[in-house]
Amino acid sequence: MALSLKDLGLVDRQYSTGSSYIMTIDSGTTSVRAMIVDAYGCIVAQASRSIKTTYPHPGWVEQDPTEILASQIAVMMEVQFKSGIHSDSIEAIGITNQRETTVVWDRDSGQPIYNAIGWQCRRTAPLAQRLVDEGYEDMIRAKTGLTPDAYFSATKVAWILDNVSGARELAESGQLLFGTIDSWLIFNLTGGLVFATDYTNASRTMLFNIHTLDWDDELLELLNIPRRMLPEVRWSSGEFGRVSTDIMTHRPRIMGVAGDQQASLFGHCCFEPGQAKNTYGTGCFMLMNTGDTVVESKNGLVATIGIAEQGKVSYALEGSIFHAGSVIQWLRDKLQIIGSTKETEGIALSRPDNGGCYLVPAFSGLGAPWWDAGARGLICGLTGASDRSSLVRAACESMAYQSYDVLCAMEADAGSRLDSLSVDGGASRNEFIMQFQADLLGIPVDQTESVETTALGAAYLAGLAVGYWEDHEELRQNHDYAKHFMPQMSEEDRARNLAGWHDAVARARSMCASSSVLVGTR
Ligand code: ADP
Repeated sequence: MALSLKDLGLVDRQYSTGSSYIMTIDSGTTSVRAMIVDAYGCIVAQASRSIKTTYPHPGWVEQDPTEILASQIAVMMEVQFKSGIHSDSIEAIGITNQRETTVVWDRDSGQPIYNAIGWQCRRTAPLAQRLVDEGYEDMIRAKTGLTPDAYFSATKVAWILDNVSGARELAESGQLLFGTIDSWLIFNLTGGLVFATDYTNASRTMLFNIHTLDWDDELLELLNIPRRMLPEVRWSSGEFGRVSTDIMTHRPRIMGVAGDQQASLFGHCCFEPGQAKNTYGTGCFMLMNTGDTVVESKNGLVATIGIAEQGKVSYALEGSIFHAGSVIQWLRDKLQIIGSTKETEGIALSRPDNGGCYLVPAFSGLGAPWWDAGARGLICGLTGASDRSSLVRAACESMAYQSYDVLCAMEADAGSRLDSLSVDGGASRNEFIMQFQADLLGIPVDQTESVETTALGAAYLAGLAVGYWEDHEELRQNHDYAKHFMPQMSEEDRARNLAGWHDAVARARSMCASSSVLVGTR
Protein backbone atom coordinates (compact mmCIF):
# COMPACT_ATOMS: atom_id res chain seq x y z
CA MET A 1 0.00 0.00 0.00
CA ALA A 2 1.32 3.38 -0.91
CA LEU A 3 2.09 5.91 1.79
CA SER A 4 -0.72 8.38 2.35
CA LEU A 5 -0.31 12.16 2.34
CA LYS A 6 -0.70 12.04 6.13
CA ASP A 7 2.10 9.46 6.43
CA LEU A 8 4.30 11.81 4.45
CA GLY A 9 3.46 14.69 6.82
CA LEU A 10 1.92 16.68 3.99
CA VAL A 11 -1.57 17.00 5.49
CA ASP A 12 -2.81 17.51 9.07
CA ARG A 13 -5.42 14.73 8.98
CA GLN A 14 -6.58 12.12 6.51
CA TYR A 15 -10.18 12.62 5.40
CA SER A 16 -12.51 10.07 3.94
CA THR A 17 -12.98 10.69 0.26
CA GLY A 18 -16.45 11.71 -0.73
CA SER A 19 -16.98 13.99 2.31
CA SER A 20 -17.86 17.53 1.50
CA TYR A 21 -17.00 20.76 3.25
CA ILE A 22 -17.53 24.49 3.24
CA MET A 23 -14.61 26.88 2.82
CA THR A 24 -14.63 30.16 4.72
CA ILE A 25 -12.59 33.15 3.73
CA ASP A 26 -12.04 35.54 6.65
CA SER A 27 -10.47 38.76 5.43
CA GLY A 28 -9.66 40.57 8.66
CA THR A 29 -7.85 43.80 9.45
CA THR A 30 -4.62 42.24 10.63
CA SER A 31 -4.71 38.88 8.86
CA VAL A 32 -6.49 36.97 6.12
CA ARG A 33 -7.46 33.36 6.67
CA ALA A 34 -9.02 30.44 4.86
CA MET A 35 -10.70 27.64 6.79
CA ILE A 36 -12.38 24.37 5.96
CA VAL A 37 -15.52 23.62 7.97
CA ASP A 38 -17.24 20.24 8.26
CA ALA A 39 -20.91 19.40 8.68
CA TYR A 40 -20.62 19.58 12.50
CA GLY A 41 -19.39 23.16 12.29
CA CYS A 42 -15.82 22.13 13.20
CA ILE A 43 -12.88 23.87 11.58
CA VAL A 44 -10.80 21.00 10.25
CA ALA A 45 -8.02 23.03 8.65
CA GLN A 46 -6.93 26.62 8.35
CA ALA A 47 -4.20 28.81 6.90
CA SER A 48 -3.48 32.47 7.57
CA ARG A 49 -1.21 35.34 6.58
CA SER A 50 -0.78 38.71 8.19
CA ILE A 51 -1.56 41.90 6.35
CA LYS A 52 0.49 45.10 6.53
CA THR A 53 -1.07 48.38 7.55
CA THR A 54 0.55 51.72 6.82
CA TYR A 55 0.01 55.06 8.55
CA PRO A 56 1.14 57.67 5.99
CA HIS A 57 0.14 60.60 8.26
CA PRO A 58 -1.15 60.80 11.83
CA GLY A 59 -4.68 59.37 11.85
CA TRP A 60 -4.41 57.94 8.30
CA VAL A 61 -4.72 54.17 7.88
CA GLU A 62 -4.10 52.34 4.59
CA GLN A 63 -3.63 48.80 3.28
CA ASP A 64 -2.59 47.44 -0.11
CA PRO A 65 -5.63 45.83 -1.82
CA THR A 66 -3.36 43.73 -4.03
CA GLU A 67 -1.57 42.31 -0.98
CA ILE A 68 -4.94 41.48 0.62
CA LEU A 69 -6.04 39.67 -2.54
CA ALA A 70 -2.77 37.82 -3.14
CA SER A 71 -2.59 36.71 0.49
CA GLN A 72 -6.20 35.61 0.42
CA ILE A 73 -5.67 33.47 -2.68
CA ALA A 74 -2.45 32.05 -1.19
CA VAL A 75 -4.23 30.88 1.99
CA MET A 76 -7.10 29.40 -0.05
CA MET A 77 -4.53 27.29 -1.89
CA GLU A 78 -2.51 26.51 1.23
CA VAL A 79 -5.47 25.25 3.25
CA GLN A 80 -6.38 22.79 0.47
CA PHE A 81 -2.83 21.53 0.29
CA LYS A 82 -2.45 21.26 4.08
CA SER A 83 -5.70 19.38 4.57
CA GLY A 84 -5.73 17.29 1.43
CA ILE A 85 -9.25 18.59 0.87
CA HIS A 86 -9.48 19.90 -2.67
CA SER A 87 -11.97 22.01 -4.54
CA ASP A 88 -14.04 19.00 -5.67
CA SER A 89 -14.96 18.46 -2.00
CA ILE A 90 -15.84 22.12 -1.36
CA GLU A 91 -19.62 22.55 -1.61
CA ALA A 92 -19.56 26.32 -1.30
CA ILE A 93 -17.48 29.27 -0.12
CA GLY A 94 -18.46 31.87 2.48
CA ILE A 95 -16.74 35.25 2.78
CA THR A 96 -16.54 37.47 5.85
CA ASN A 97 -14.50 40.63 5.95
CA GLN A 98 -13.36 43.74 7.77
CA ARG A 99 -16.13 46.25 7.13
CA GLU A 100 -16.16 49.85 5.82
CA THR A 101 -12.60 49.66 4.40
CA THR A 102 -12.79 51.21 0.95
CA VAL A 103 -11.23 50.20 -2.38
CA VAL A 104 -11.63 51.98 -5.74
CA TRP A 105 -10.34 50.20 -8.83
CA ASP A 106 -10.36 50.39 -12.62
CA ARG A 107 -13.08 48.25 -14.20
CA ASP A 108 -10.87 47.10 -17.11
CA SER A 109 -7.35 46.81 -15.72
CA GLY A 110 -8.54 45.63 -12.29
CA GLN A 111 -5.88 47.89 -10.74
CA PRO A 112 -6.76 49.87 -7.60
CA ILE A 113 -6.30 53.60 -8.15
CA TYR A 114 -5.36 54.18 -4.51
CA ASN A 115 -4.60 52.10 -1.42
CA ALA A 116 -7.51 50.70 0.57
CA ILE A 117 -8.55 53.33 3.12
CA GLY A 118 -8.94 51.49 6.43
CA TRP A 119 -12.03 51.64 8.61
CA GLN A 120 -9.97 53.21 11.40
CA CYS A 121 -8.76 56.05 9.14
CA ARG A 122 -9.72 59.52 10.43
CA ARG A 123 -8.64 61.61 7.41
CA THR A 124 -12.23 62.36 6.43
CA ALA A 125 -13.32 63.47 9.92
CA PRO A 126 -13.62 67.12 8.73
CA LEU A 127 -15.94 66.05 5.88
CA ALA A 128 -18.08 63.98 8.26
CA GLN A 129 -18.22 66.95 10.64
CA ARG A 130 -19.27 69.22 7.76
CA LEU A 131 -22.23 66.92 7.09
CA VAL A 132 -23.26 67.34 10.72
CA ASP A 133 -22.69 71.13 10.70
CA GLU A 134 -24.75 71.49 7.53
CA GLY A 135 -27.67 69.76 9.23
CA TYR A 136 -27.65 66.38 7.45
CA GLU A 137 -27.23 64.23 10.57
CA ASP A 138 -30.92 63.39 11.09
CA MET A 139 -31.48 62.63 7.39
CA ILE A 140 -28.41 60.35 7.28
CA ARG A 141 -29.42 58.57 10.47
CA ALA A 142 -33.01 58.10 9.26
CA LYS A 143 -31.90 56.54 5.97
CA THR A 144 -28.79 54.58 6.91
CA GLY A 145 -29.18 53.97 10.65
CA LEU A 146 -25.69 55.47 11.08
CA THR A 147 -24.32 58.63 12.65
CA PRO A 148 -22.20 60.60 10.14
CA ASP A 149 -18.61 59.57 10.82
CA ALA A 150 -15.32 59.04 9.00
CA TYR A 151 -15.53 55.38 10.12
CA PHE A 152 -18.05 54.52 7.36
CA SER A 153 -17.09 54.17 3.67
CA ALA A 154 -18.97 57.12 2.14
CA THR A 155 -16.54 59.93 2.99
CA LYS A 156 -13.58 57.68 2.11
CA VAL A 157 -14.89 57.18 -1.46
CA ALA A 158 -15.51 60.91 -1.76
CA TRP A 159 -11.94 61.57 -0.59
CA ILE A 160 -10.46 59.27 -3.27
CA LEU A 161 -12.55 60.89 -6.02
CA ASP A 162 -11.52 64.37 -4.84
CA ASN A 163 -7.85 63.66 -4.26
CA VAL A 164 -6.60 61.12 -6.80
CA SER A 165 -5.72 62.84 -10.04
CA GLY A 166 -8.25 62.14 -12.81
CA ALA A 167 -10.41 59.94 -10.57
CA ARG A 168 -13.58 61.99 -10.79
CA GLU A 169 -13.66 62.03 -14.61
CA LEU A 170 -12.98 58.29 -14.74
CA ALA A 171 -15.73 57.65 -12.19
CA GLU A 172 -18.23 59.81 -14.13
CA SER A 173 -17.45 57.86 -17.30
CA GLY A 174 -18.14 54.53 -15.56
CA GLN A 175 -14.53 53.38 -15.55
CA LEU A 176 -14.11 53.09 -11.77
CA LEU A 177 -15.66 50.68 -9.30
CA PHE A 178 -15.99 51.11 -5.53
CA GLY A 179 -16.27 48.22 -3.14
CA THR A 180 -15.67 47.16 0.42
CA ILE A 181 -13.23 44.25 0.84
CA ASP A 182 -15.92 41.63 0.08
CA SER A 183 -16.65 43.19 -3.35
CA TRP A 184 -12.95 43.53 -4.11
CA LEU A 185 -12.44 39.81 -3.37
CA ILE A 186 -15.60 38.63 -5.18
CA PHE A 187 -14.69 40.65 -8.31
CA ASN A 188 -11.20 39.17 -8.43
CA LEU A 189 -12.03 35.62 -7.36
CA THR A 190 -14.69 35.38 -10.08
CA GLY A 191 -12.28 36.66 -12.75
CA GLY A 192 -14.03 40.05 -12.92
CA LEU A 193 -17.43 38.52 -13.74
CA VAL A 194 -19.30 39.49 -10.58
CA PHE A 195 -19.35 42.97 -9.06
CA ALA A 196 -21.50 42.62 -5.97
CA THR A 197 -21.72 43.07 -2.22
CA ASP A 198 -24.23 41.89 0.37
CA TYR A 199 -26.76 43.85 2.43
CA THR A 200 -24.74 43.74 5.65
CA ASN A 201 -21.63 45.23 4.06
CA ALA A 202 -23.67 47.77 2.09
CA SER A 203 -25.31 48.92 5.33
CA ARG A 204 -21.90 50.07 6.63
CA THR A 205 -21.13 52.42 3.75
CA MET A 206 -23.44 55.30 4.79
CA LEU A 207 -24.70 55.32 1.18
CA PHE A 208 -27.28 52.57 1.58
CA ASN A 209 -30.89 53.08 2.57
CA ILE A 210 -31.63 50.29 5.03
CA HIS A 211 -35.41 50.73 4.62
CA THR A 212 -35.67 50.64 0.81
CA LEU A 213 -32.67 48.25 0.58
CA ASP A 214 -31.12 50.29 -2.21
CA TRP A 215 -28.30 52.79 -2.69
CA ASP A 216 -29.70 56.20 -1.84
CA ASP A 217 -29.62 58.84 -4.60
CA GLU A 218 -29.87 61.79 -2.21
CA LEU A 219 -26.81 60.61 -0.26
CA LEU A 220 -24.91 59.85 -3.47
CA GLU A 221 -25.63 63.36 -4.70
CA LEU A 222 -24.67 64.91 -1.37
CA LEU A 223 -21.25 63.23 -1.52
CA ASN A 224 -20.96 63.50 -5.29
CA ILE A 225 -20.50 59.76 -5.86
CA PRO A 226 -21.74 58.34 -9.21
CA ARG A 227 -24.18 55.44 -8.74
CA ARG A 228 -22.52 53.49 -11.54
CA MET A 229 -19.44 52.91 -9.34
CA LEU A 230 -21.46 50.90 -6.85
CA PRO A 231 -21.81 47.13 -6.68
CA GLU A 232 -25.06 45.22 -7.02
CA VAL A 233 -26.37 44.37 -3.55
CA ARG A 234 -27.39 40.74 -2.93
CA TRP A 235 -28.68 38.60 -0.06
CA SER A 236 -25.95 37.36 2.29
CA SER A 237 -26.97 33.75 1.70
CA GLY A 238 -27.11 33.16 -2.06
CA GLU A 239 -25.09 33.05 -5.26
CA PHE A 240 -22.10 35.39 -5.78
CA GLY A 241 -20.50 33.52 -8.69
CA ARG A 242 -17.95 30.76 -9.21
CA VAL A 243 -14.30 31.04 -8.27
CA SER A 244 -12.16 31.03 -11.40
CA THR A 245 -10.30 27.87 -12.46
CA ASP A 246 -6.79 29.15 -11.87
CA ILE A 247 -7.59 29.55 -8.16
CA MET A 248 -9.68 26.41 -7.55
CA THR A 249 -9.88 23.75 -10.25
CA HIS A 250 -13.46 22.68 -9.61
CA ARG A 251 -14.72 26.24 -9.35
CA PRO A 252 -16.87 26.14 -6.18
CA ARG A 253 -19.48 28.85 -5.87
CA ILE A 254 -19.32 31.76 -3.40
CA MET A 255 -22.68 31.36 -1.63
CA GLY A 256 -22.37 33.43 1.55
CA VAL A 257 -21.10 36.95 2.27
CA ALA A 258 -21.36 39.08 5.43
CA GLY A 259 -19.40 41.77 7.26
CA ASP A 260 -17.44 40.39 10.20
CA GLN A 261 -19.69 41.49 13.07
CA GLN A 262 -22.85 40.39 11.25
CA ALA A 263 -21.25 37.04 10.39
CA SER A 264 -20.41 36.70 14.07
CA LEU A 265 -24.05 37.43 15.03
CA PHE A 266 -25.08 34.62 12.67
CA GLY A 267 -22.31 32.33 13.95
CA HIS A 268 -23.66 32.86 17.48
CA CYS A 269 -27.07 31.67 16.16
CA CYS A 270 -28.68 34.96 17.28
CA PHE A 271 -31.48 34.40 14.76
CA GLU A 272 -34.30 35.74 16.94
CA PRO A 273 -35.14 39.32 17.91
CA GLY A 274 -33.76 40.18 21.35
CA GLN A 275 -30.71 37.89 21.09
CA ALA A 276 -27.31 39.55 21.38
CA LYS A 277 -23.62 38.75 21.16
CA ASN A 278 -20.50 40.55 22.29
CA THR A 279 -17.06 39.98 20.76
CA TYR A 280 -14.12 40.84 23.05
CA GLY A 281 -11.17 41.49 20.74
CA THR A 282 -8.98 44.55 20.29
CA GLY A 283 -12.24 46.46 20.67
CA CYS A 284 -15.65 45.14 21.65
CA PHE A 285 -18.54 44.83 19.23
CA MET A 286 -21.99 44.16 20.60
CA LEU A 287 -24.91 43.45 18.28
CA MET A 288 -28.52 42.77 19.18
CA ASN A 289 -30.98 41.32 16.69
CA THR A 290 -34.02 43.64 16.52
CA GLY A 291 -35.99 41.59 13.96
CA ASP A 292 -37.83 43.55 11.29
CA THR A 293 -37.74 46.77 13.32
CA VAL A 294 -35.15 49.45 12.65
CA VAL A 295 -34.58 50.83 16.13
CA GLU A 296 -33.43 54.45 15.98
CA SER A 297 -31.05 54.73 18.88
CA LYS A 298 -31.47 57.50 21.43
CA ASN A 299 -28.47 56.20 23.34
CA GLY A 300 -25.47 56.43 21.04
CA LEU A 301 -25.82 53.15 19.12
CA VAL A 302 -26.24 52.61 15.39
CA ALA A 303 -28.90 50.63 13.54
CA THR A 304 -27.64 48.29 10.86
CA ILE A 305 -28.63 45.27 8.79
CA GLY A 306 -27.89 42.27 11.01
CA ILE A 307 -28.91 39.27 8.95
CA ALA A 308 -29.98 39.18 5.30
CA GLU A 309 -30.95 35.66 4.37
CA GLN A 310 -32.89 35.13 1.11
CA GLY A 311 -35.92 37.40 1.13
CA LYS A 312 -35.71 38.46 4.78
CA VAL A 313 -33.81 41.22 6.52
CA SER A 314 -33.29 41.30 10.28
CA TYR A 315 -31.99 44.58 11.65
CA ALA A 316 -29.58 44.97 14.54
CA LEU A 317 -28.48 47.58 17.05
CA GLU A 318 -24.71 47.84 17.26
CA GLY A 319 -22.40 49.38 19.84
CA SER A 320 -18.65 49.61 19.29
CA ILE A 321 -16.07 50.02 22.04
CA PHE A 322 -12.72 51.24 20.71
CA HIS A 323 -10.37 49.93 23.40
CA ALA A 324 -11.00 46.60 25.09
CA GLY A 325 -8.35 43.86 24.65
CA SER A 326 -5.99 46.60 23.44
CA VAL A 327 -5.78 47.83 27.05
CA ILE A 328 -4.20 44.52 27.99
CA GLN A 329 -1.72 44.90 25.14
CA TRP A 330 -0.97 48.39 26.49
CA LEU A 331 -0.16 46.94 29.93
CA ARG A 332 2.15 44.46 28.23
CA ASP A 333 3.84 46.62 25.58
CA LYS A 334 3.79 50.16 26.96
CA LEU A 335 3.69 49.85 30.75
CA GLN A 336 5.48 46.48 30.58
CA ILE A 337 3.92 45.31 33.82
CA ILE A 338 2.80 41.94 32.44
CA GLY A 339 4.63 39.45 30.26
CA SER A 340 1.63 37.98 28.46
CA THR A 341 -2.08 38.71 28.07
CA LYS A 342 -2.91 35.33 29.63
CA GLU A 343 -1.31 36.31 32.96
CA THR A 344 -3.98 38.92 33.57
CA GLU A 345 -6.58 36.38 34.66
CA GLY A 346 -4.48 35.05 37.57
CA ILE A 347 -3.33 38.53 38.60
CA ALA A 348 -6.89 39.91 38.63
CA LEU A 349 -8.11 36.91 40.61
CA SER A 350 -5.33 37.35 43.18
CA ARG A 351 -7.22 40.36 44.58
CA PRO A 352 -10.51 40.21 46.46
CA ASP A 353 -11.65 43.43 44.73
CA ASN A 354 -10.39 46.44 42.80
CA GLY A 355 -9.50 48.39 45.95
CA GLY A 356 -11.31 51.43 44.51
CA CYS A 357 -9.01 51.63 41.46
CA TYR A 358 -10.56 52.25 38.00
CA LEU A 359 -9.02 52.53 34.54
CA VAL A 360 -10.98 54.26 31.77
CA PRO A 361 -9.25 53.37 28.47
CA ALA A 362 -10.41 56.43 26.53
CA PHE A 363 -7.14 56.41 24.56
CA SER A 364 -8.81 57.83 21.46
CA GLY A 365 -11.96 59.18 23.05
CA LEU A 366 -14.91 57.02 24.08
CA GLY A 367 -17.15 55.12 21.64
CA ALA A 368 -20.65 53.87 22.35
CA PRO A 369 -22.66 54.90 24.24
CA TRP A 370 -20.78 58.11 25.05
CA TRP A 371 -19.30 59.09 21.66
CA ASP A 372 -16.97 61.56 23.28
CA ALA A 373 -13.96 62.17 21.04
CA GLY A 374 -12.51 64.57 23.63
CA ALA A 375 -12.39 62.09 26.52
CA ARG A 376 -8.94 60.83 27.52
CA GLY A 377 -7.69 57.76 29.37
CA LEU A 378 -7.53 57.87 33.14
CA ILE A 379 -6.53 55.78 36.15
CA CYS A 380 -8.06 56.89 39.43
CA GLY A 381 -8.59 55.81 43.02
CA LEU A 382 -4.91 55.01 43.68
CA THR A 383 -3.64 54.70 47.26
CA GLY A 384 -0.28 53.76 48.73
CA ALA A 385 -1.45 50.15 48.75
CA SER A 386 -2.14 50.11 44.99
CA ASP A 387 0.18 47.92 42.97
CA ARG A 388 0.50 46.12 39.67
CA SER A 389 -2.45 43.89 40.45
CA SER A 390 -4.67 46.95 41.01
CA LEU A 391 -3.91 48.20 37.49
CA VAL A 392 -4.30 44.78 35.88
CA ARG A 393 -7.58 44.18 37.62
CA ALA A 394 -8.83 47.66 36.72
CA ALA A 395 -7.87 47.06 33.06
CA CYS A 396 -9.71 43.72 32.98
CA GLU A 397 -12.75 45.20 34.68
CA SER A 398 -12.83 48.08 32.18
CA MET A 399 -13.88 45.69 29.37
CA ALA A 400 -16.84 44.51 31.41
CA TYR A 401 -17.89 48.01 32.53
CA GLN A 402 -17.79 49.36 28.99
CA SER A 403 -19.82 46.39 27.73
CA TYR A 404 -22.28 46.93 30.59
CA ASP A 405 -22.83 50.53 29.45
CA VAL A 406 -23.44 49.46 25.84
CA LEU A 407 -25.81 46.71 26.85
CA CYS A 408 -27.84 49.08 29.04
CA ALA A 409 -28.11 51.48 26.08
CA MET A 410 -29.26 48.60 23.87
CA GLU A 411 -31.91 47.48 26.29
CA ALA A 412 -33.16 51.05 26.66
CA ASP A 413 -33.35 51.48 22.86
CA ALA A 414 -34.92 48.09 22.21
CA GLY A 415 -37.32 48.36 25.15
CA SER A 416 -36.56 44.78 26.15
CA ARG A 417 -34.33 42.96 28.62
CA LEU A 418 -31.74 40.39 27.63
CA ASP A 419 -31.95 36.92 29.16
CA SER A 420 -28.30 36.07 28.50
CA LEU A 421 -25.30 37.33 26.51
CA SER A 422 -23.38 35.11 24.06
CA VAL A 423 -19.66 35.98 23.93
CA ASP A 424 -16.56 35.24 21.87
CA GLY A 425 -13.22 36.83 20.92
CA GLY A 426 -9.70 36.51 22.38
CA ALA A 427 -10.40 38.28 25.70
CA SER A 428 -13.58 36.21 26.28
CA ARG A 429 -11.20 33.38 27.23
CA ASN A 430 -10.34 35.34 30.40
CA GLU A 431 -12.64 33.75 32.97
CA PHE A 432 -12.21 36.57 35.48
CA ILE A 433 -13.57 39.08 32.94
CA MET A 434 -16.48 36.85 31.95
CA GLN A 435 -17.49 36.20 35.58
CA PHE A 436 -17.24 39.91 36.34
CA GLN A 437 -19.36 40.61 33.25
CA ALA A 438 -22.09 38.22 34.42
CA ASP A 439 -21.93 39.82 37.89
CA LEU A 440 -22.38 43.34 36.50
CA LEU A 441 -25.14 42.40 34.07
CA GLY A 442 -27.01 40.12 36.45
CA ILE A 443 -27.60 37.61 33.60
CA PRO A 444 -25.69 34.51 32.43
CA VAL A 445 -22.76 35.05 30.08
CA ASP A 446 -22.41 32.17 27.62
CA GLN A 447 -18.90 31.56 26.28
CA THR A 448 -18.95 29.85 22.88
CA GLU A 449 -17.00 26.63 22.38
CA SER A 450 -15.42 27.89 19.17
CA VAL A 451 -13.54 31.18 19.12
CA GLU A 452 -14.19 31.32 15.37
CA THR A 453 -17.83 32.36 15.38
CA THR A 454 -17.23 34.96 12.65
CA ALA A 455 -15.80 32.39 10.26
CA LEU A 456 -18.52 29.92 11.18
CA GLY A 457 -21.21 32.53 10.49
CA ALA A 458 -19.94 32.96 6.92
CA ALA A 459 -19.76 29.18 6.49
CA TYR A 460 -23.33 28.83 7.78
CA LEU A 461 -24.62 31.46 5.32
CA ALA A 462 -22.94 29.65 2.40
CA GLY A 463 -23.92 26.17 3.63
CA LEU A 464 -27.59 27.06 4.08
CA ALA A 465 -27.73 28.43 0.54
CA VAL A 466 -26.64 25.09 -0.95
CA GLY A 467 -28.57 22.85 1.46
CA TYR A 468 -25.38 21.66 3.20
CA TRP A 469 -27.24 22.50 6.39
CA GLU A 470 -30.99 22.22 6.40
CA ASP A 471 -32.09 25.11 8.60
CA HIS A 472 -31.37 27.24 11.68
CA GLU A 473 -32.30 24.34 13.93
CA GLU A 474 -29.49 22.21 12.57
CA LEU A 475 -27.03 25.07 13.14
CA ARG A 476 -28.27 25.50 16.71
CA GLN A 477 -27.55 21.85 17.33
CA ASN A 478 -23.95 22.38 16.19
CA HIS A 479 -23.61 25.39 18.46
CA ASP A 480 -21.90 24.53 21.73
CA TYR A 481 -20.93 26.60 24.73
CA ALA A 482 -17.68 26.03 26.57
CA LYS A 483 -18.96 27.57 29.79
CA HIS A 484 -21.85 29.54 31.29
CA PHE A 485 -20.95 32.21 33.84
CA MET A 486 -23.75 32.85 36.35
CA PRO A 487 -24.11 36.13 38.29
CA GLN A 488 -22.85 35.83 41.86
CA MET A 489 -22.00 39.31 43.11
CA SER A 490 -24.07 40.90 45.85
CA GLU A 491 -26.27 43.81 44.84
CA GLU A 492 -24.33 46.09 47.18
CA ASP A 493 -20.94 45.29 45.59
CA ARG A 494 -22.39 45.60 42.13
CA ALA A 495 -23.84 49.06 42.86
CA ARG A 496 -20.57 50.21 44.47
CA ASN A 497 -18.49 49.03 41.50
CA LEU A 498 -20.77 50.66 38.95
CA ALA A 499 -20.89 53.94 40.90
CA GLY A 500 -17.07 54.00 41.02
CA TRP A 501 -16.85 53.30 37.28
CA HIS A 502 -19.35 55.98 36.30
CA ASP A 503 -17.58 58.51 38.48
CA ALA A 504 -14.31 57.60 36.68
CA VAL A 505 -15.99 57.92 33.25
CA ALA A 506 -17.26 61.39 34.19
CA ARG A 507 -13.70 62.39 35.15
CA ALA A 508 -12.28 60.97 31.87
CA ARG A 509 -14.86 62.94 29.92
CA SER A 510 -13.86 66.20 31.55
CA MET A 511 -10.13 65.55 30.99
CA CYS A 512 -9.55 66.88 27.50
CA ALA A 513 -11.03 70.35 27.87
CA SER A 514 -9.15 71.02 31.09
CA SER A 515 -5.86 69.55 29.89
CA SER A 516 -5.85 71.66 26.73
CA VAL A 517 -6.34 74.73 28.93
CA LEU A 518 -3.53 73.67 31.20
CA VAL A 519 -0.99 73.04 28.45
CA GLY A 520 1.36 75.98 28.27
CA THR A 521 0.06 77.73 31.39
CA ARG A 522 1.56 77.98 34.89
P1 ADP B 1 -8.89 40.79 17.09
O1 ADP B 1 -9.77 39.85 16.30
O2 ADP B 1 -9.50 42.15 17.36
O3 ADP B 1 -7.47 40.87 16.60
P2 ADP B 1 -8.83 38.70 19.14
O4 ADP B 1 -10.23 38.19 19.22
O5 ADP B 1 -7.79 37.84 18.52
O6 ADP B 1 -8.80 40.19 18.58
O7 ADP B 1 -8.39 39.03 20.65
C1 ADP B 1 -7.15 39.63 20.91
C2 ADP B 1 -7.30 40.70 21.97
O8 ADP B 1 -7.76 40.11 23.19
C3 ADP B 1 -5.99 41.37 22.28
O9 ADP B 1 -6.20 42.77 22.38
C4 ADP B 1 -5.54 40.80 23.62
O10 ADP B 1 -4.91 41.77 24.43
C5 ADP B 1 -6.84 40.35 24.25
N1 ADP B 1 -6.69 39.10 24.99
C6 ADP B 1 -6.35 37.89 24.48
N2 ADP B 1 -6.30 36.96 25.45
C7 ADP B 1 -6.63 37.58 26.61
C8 ADP B 1 -6.76 37.17 27.96
N3 ADP B 1 -6.57 35.91 28.33
N4 ADP B 1 -7.12 38.11 28.87
C9 ADP B 1 -7.35 39.39 28.51
N5 ADP B 1 -7.23 39.82 27.24
C10 ADP B 1 -6.87 38.96 26.31
